[in-house]
Amino acid sequence: MAVSDTLKEVIDRLAYDFNQFELAHFIRHIERLQRREILVIPLPFEPGLSAVWIRAETADYIFYNERTHPIHQTHNILHELAHILLDHTCWPIEQALPRELLELVATASLQGRLRKADPHLRADQEEQEAEAFVFLIQKRLVTANRMTQLMGQSSSIDALRQWVDSMAFDE
Ligand SMILES: [Zn+2]
Repeated sequence: MAVSDTLKEVIDRLAYDFNQFELAHFIRHIERLQRREILVIPLPFEPGLSAVWIRAETADYIFYNERTHPIHQTHNILHELAHILLDHTCWPIEQALPRELLELVATASLQGRLRKADPHLRADQEEQEAEAFVFLIQKRLVTANRMTQLMGQSSSIDALRQWVDSMAFDE
C-alpha cells in the first residue's frame, strides 16, 4: 500500500470532523484517542530549530519555536503530531537540546525527535511521512474551508491573501 494511502487511513481513523478544526481542539481529540496527554509549549528557540517532540513516560511534549511565523508554528505542531500518531521512532536527543528545554522536562532519558534545518533529516523517511501527513491535513482543511485555522493567531485579511496566493503549504 502506498504511503499516502496509509496516511489517509490514519487520518480517517481519527474520525475527526475537520469542519470544526481548531488546532487546540484537534490536539484534545488526539489526546482522547491516545489516552495520553500532549503538552504543547512555545519556546524562543534559535533559528533553524523549528520544533521538538519528546516522548516522556506519561505524556508527549511538543515544543515549538515561537519566533517563527504563526503559519509555520501551526505547521510544525502538526508535523510533530504526525510523529505521535504514526508512532515514529524516537532517538536520544538530550545532547541536541537547548538547556532551557532540559530544565522543563524532568524525565530520566530524553527520547524524541528534532525538527530542524538539516539535509539528513529531510531525507529521513519518517520525516517525509510526517510532512505528507501535514499536507493531507491541510488539504482536508481547504476542503472544509477552515484554512484560516492554519494561520495561528495572525488571521488578518492581508496575511490570508498572501497565504492563499502562494499556496504556502510548505515553507
Ligand atoms: Zn520531524
